[in-house]
Amino acid sequence: MVKEHCRKKCLGCRQWFIPNPRTQGRQRFCSKPACKKASKKWRQARWRVKPENKNYWRGSDEVNRVRKWRKLHLKRKHVVNPPDQWIRAEGVFEGIVETEIYLRAREMILARSQKLTDEEMLEQLRVLLKQHGRISGILIDEAEGLPSSAAFRHRFGALVNAYRLIGYDPGIDFGFIEENRRLRKQHPEIVASLVEQITALGGSAVWDKATQLLNVNDGLRVSIVLCRHTTTDAGSSRWLIRLDAGLKPDITIAVRMNATNEGVRDYYLLPGLDMTWEDLRVAEANGVYLDTYRFDTLEYLFSLTERINLEETT
Ligand SMILES: [Zn+2]
Repeated sequence: MVKEHCRKKCLGCRQWFIPNPRTQGRQRFCSKPACKKASKKWRQARWRVKPENKNYWRGSDEVNRVRKWRKLHLKRKHVVNPPDQWIRAEGVFEGIVETEIYLRAREMILARSQKLTDEEMLEQLRVLLKQHGRISGILIDEAEGLPSSAAFRHRFGALVNAYRLIGYDPGIDFGFIEENRRLRKQHPEIVASLVEQITALGGSAVWDKATQLLNVNDGLRVSIVLCRHTTTDAGSSRWLIRLDAGLKPDITIAVRMNATNEGVRDYYLLPGLDMTWEDLRVAEANGVYLDTYRFDTLEYLFSLTERINLEETT
């Protein structure tokens, strides 16, 4: 038999209910689904009016901080939002300088590089060259009154172009441009050798010029990217794997070139399903996650294509 004083009136549906004795009288809603929902809302509202929690959701900083936390802790991929997706709230913090002064300063900074003509920018570059005998991105950025190196890059496409226009040879080794050219030449050779090897195994491989993909056994779309070897300042090797997100191939074969960029070092076979389609910068060793896709030869790919053959013939 239930004692009369144990009964409570639900704050949601206004009906009598028997609270769980273990909550020691803190229960204010019954266990109907709608009232459970109302209960949660009620508790959250109570939490928010406490003085220490009042500012928890206030301001763009806080919102983004909490979002970041949630993304990390809900075990999902952390997304960096582009600035146009930021939620902004004006006037949350008291400014260090007055808004009007800030706006005027910003205008001046913008105006500095916008109002200059190409020739005026180049003239300033010439003056800098005369002063130092040489120019570099750092010198440009450090020079007073000169547009930033980013502004030069933006205007002329690349700093080198601006240098060239004032007849300055920075003396940098542009050998990598030559190397890239050589790599592009090597691409068809590697494709041809792949086609040959797959055909020898009884498969079919056709290079599709339009999509720039290798069509293996009329089904598997394979993208082949060559990755130039580069060396960091510290002397270790790096490769950049540029993935073609637009093509969405089934498999990307990333061919890592050796240190001279003349021969093949090894391969990464990257299945399309596993990819996030961001460019990958890889070192000699990259941990298990990536290096399970690393192969010294393409035999694994051939075994894959063979298997597809078998599936089709049986
Ligand atoms: Zn209720």
